[in-house]
Amino acid sequence: MNSAVVNSIVTDSAPESTSESFQDACISEASIDARVKELNERYHNLTPEQRVEQLYKDFSPSEVMLTSSFASNSAFLLHLFSITAPQQIIHFIDTGYHFPQTLSYKKRLTELYHLDVVDVHPEEWKHEYTLKDETWKSDPDFCCSINKVEPLDEIKKKYKVWVSGLIRWQTEHRASLDVFEHRGGMIKFYPLIDVTKEERDAYIRDHNLPFHPMVAQGYSSVGCIHCTKPGDDRCGRWVDTAKAECGLHL
Ligand code: SF4
Repeated sequence: MNSAVVNSIVTDSAPESTSESFQDACISEASIDARVKELNERYHNLTPEQRVEQLYKDFSPSEVMLTSSFASNSAFLLHLFSITAPQQIIHFIDTGYHFPQTLSYKKRLTELYHLDVVDVHPEEWKHEYTLKDETWKSDPDFCCSINKVEPLDEIKKKYKVWVSGLIRWQTEHRASLDVFEHRGGMIKFYPLIDVTKEERDAYIRDHNLPFHPMVAQGYSSVGCIHCTKPGDDRCGRWVDTAKAECGLHL
């Protein structure tokens, strides 16, 4: 079975659209845009800590979803939430292709900060397909879609706000983001978005946070085994391709 066939099966099995009229959908999109604008105005000058505290005044915990890849920068966001919102569940997308060091780092941070982590997995037969096909070589976007993006789709529907630790200096796409963004009917929340490298390093140093073990081996960014090499910032991700994002945050 080639990736086009699997792609069509994935698309065909997508849930049917609701009976919401186009006009209702436009009104709802416009109201989310207005909410995002208002939130950005209020959160713009706050510190990351203040932003996280304020989030739970503006939304109930049951409306907030947080994802972490337990990669190089993850300790910052996870430590912040463990102090200001220890009840927050952390969703970890287990692609099946993580480095063993990432899984042991996840275990270490979970124990250290008493995190409540829920693993999210791709559908087994689809993951097996990518394994046999080595889809990351021929079509990494499709591989990420199966193993990262799609597993979170059902979960996302239960929440209004999606928190992640994106920072502007990481990629060109991230450089264009604000503290809040409207994406596909959800409000994305990036409390660290305007943190500089120096501020990130100072937070890690001041709080004595453990780095991902592969950072010391020259990996500034750590993703799946097949798509990660040593390099500065995100230069070691999807080397020799135009791909810079897994698609989760696009
Ligand atoms: S990062 Fe690579 S191996 Fe991981 S899901 Fe994406 S393409 Fe597949």
